Amino acid sequence: MTEPERDPHCLFCRIIAGELPALKILETASAIAIADINPQAPTHVLVIPRRHISGIAVVTPEDAATLAGIFDLANQVASARGLDQSGYRLVINQGPDAGQSVPHLHIHVLGGRPLQWPPG
Ligand code: AMP
Ligand code: ZN
Repeated sequence: MTEPERDPHCLFCRIIAGELPALKILETASAIAIADINPQAPTHVLVIPRRHISGIAVVTPEDAATLAGIFDLANQVASARGLDQSGYRLVINQGPDAGQSVPHLHIHVLGGRPLQWPPG
């Protein structure tokens, strides 16, 4: 892990620090879940590790606990929204072609309607 714990210019680090508002859904010691400001499905929640990691491409085996923490929280969000049976999709966008717009690792939790496959 070569990155600082927090990037003062990062949107999600600023939300985690309470400097910018967000609708918090759930949180744990290592991650928070917030409502996406531009929802693409009835449930569209972002699960974000508290520690700044710029994207999935830079994670290493040392980040195993952080990754387990965000996937656990994503499943907690899905359960809390009653999506266990209907299903849901977890998305991580990496880089320009995937449309990553915030360079702080996050999982999109999408559900509440049938989701197209393959994604666009
Ligand atoms: P990505 O494009 O995968 O990097 O995802 C970034 C997501 O963050 C997009 O779905 C945006 O709608 C969402 N977003 C951007 N700004 C905010 C904000 N202030 N609060 C909540 N979600 C945001
Ligand atoms: Zn950050």
